[in-house]
Amino acid sequence: MKFDMVVIGGGLVGASLVTALKASGLKTALIESREPLPLPEDESWDSRVYAISPGSIGFLHDHAIWQRMDASRVAPVYDMAVFGDDSSSHIQFSAYEAGMAELACIVENRQLQTAVWTALQSQNGSPEIFCPAQCAAITWHASHAEIRLEDGRQLDTALVVGADGVNSWVRQQANIAVSRHPYQQNGVVANFSTGLPHRNVAHQWFRRDGVLALLPLPGSRISMVWSTDDAHAAELRALSDEQLCRHVEEAASHTFSELRLITPPAGFPLNFVHVSSLVKPRLVLVGDAAHGIHPLAGQGVNLGLRDVRKLAEILNDRGLQADVGDFTLLRRYECARKEDILAMELVTDGLQKLFINPDPTLARLRNLGLEITNRLPLIKNQLMQHALS
Ligand SMILES: Cc1cc2nc3c(=O)[nH]c(=O)nc-3n(C[C@H](O)[C@H](O)[C@H](O)COP(=O)(O)OP(=O)(O)OC[C@H]3O[C@@H](n4cnc5c(N)ncnc54)[C@H](O)[C@@H]3O)c2cc1C
Repeated sequence: MKFDMVVIGGGLVGASLVTALKASGLKTALIESREPLPLPEDESWDSRVYAISPGSIGFLHDHAIWQRMDASRVAPVYDMAVFGDDSSSHIQFSAYEAGMAELACIVENRQLQTAVWTALQSQNGSPEIFCPAQCAAITWHASHAEIRLEDGRQLDTALVVGADGVNSWVRQQANIAVSRHPYQQNGVVANFSTGLPHRNVAHQWFRRDGVLALLPLPGSRISMVWSTDDAHAAELRALSDEQLCRHVEEAASHTFSELRLITPPAGFPLNFVHVSSLVKPRLVLVGDAAHGIHPLAGQGVNLGLRDVRKLAEILNDRGLQADVGDFTLLRRYECARKEDILAMELVTDGLQKLFINPDPTLARLRNLGLEITNRLPLIKNQLMQHALS
């Protein structure tokens, strides 16, 4: 089987890339090791949610993905309030001030995943999909790469795209060096119904025990992402429903009351991963395979979709350079993405380190920093523009 491009990993990023290239004329294949989860038949809510930026929404819309989302499961965020770890410092962001309809939309992972996969499978000249399928080996040649599946099938391709997440197997096969450190934290996620309306405001508290975010869901519901050290995460997950609700109310300074757990807590280990190179001959990395960042800025998927937007643009505009695996094209992608990725890695890693440091002088400085930034519209606007892209 011969292809122009084989994408390994059909998460949000890999599946979006294949969808975005439908008009490119490229012969593409997607290899995904797990069957996508079907939507549940009941009214339950997925505790894994994402804040999707307006830039990402525009991209998903352009490729007929966003239109497939059930609008009753999407919550726009109009304002965002971020609090320091003293009782007063804070910074506020407003869609109205930014001249935007919303700062982001909160969506459930499985809803978005289903929308992407439906768009992927419904396109004309659909890509070849191998799912569930396990890769056994990749062999690199000057003119192509050979991917062998565990069932013995072989795919020859001009370009391999690694979109297989933060522990990327493709990245390992290509011997791309990474610097990696575990944050020794878990992102504990859960959904609640609330007594007080959230008014579509996203709240975030930088606390000594981690970062607590409460994001609006449709109706009187909120979704929690509490990034906290492993021991505290285990404690949170061991609490009874009632205890967890009261604990979250208290940690959120009683911004919400009468919380009731509607989706049980789950935990995700958090790691920082910086890759030494995004490309190699006949290989390109996108999404978490290319960068693993702390979720405190809610930017992982958005950063991955920005990779996809740039790669799709470069491959679509390749003109007379017919070979999609041409290394100069791939280098163009790497150059275009390096700065954005590094900035996001530095900001999220730096903020995480800054706010877990117990030093009282540093505590005063970081809280002062929040307050000052809140009063500097120019800097605030620049921060916001990056998060909106
Ligand atoms: C607690 C938490 C909260 C978060 N909140 C946000 C948020 O609000 N906003 C945001 O933008 N981001 C957020 N993120 C980050 C986001 O989850 C990731 O950035 C995003 O899921 C990465 O997508 P991906 O497609 O690159 O990788 P993945 O989602 O990891 O997908 C990789 C896919 O590859 C498949 N795969 C793996 N290995 C192979 C193989 N060898 N062969 C074939 N297939 C393979 C997997 O089955 C999977 O489907 C959050 C992360 C965490 C942990």
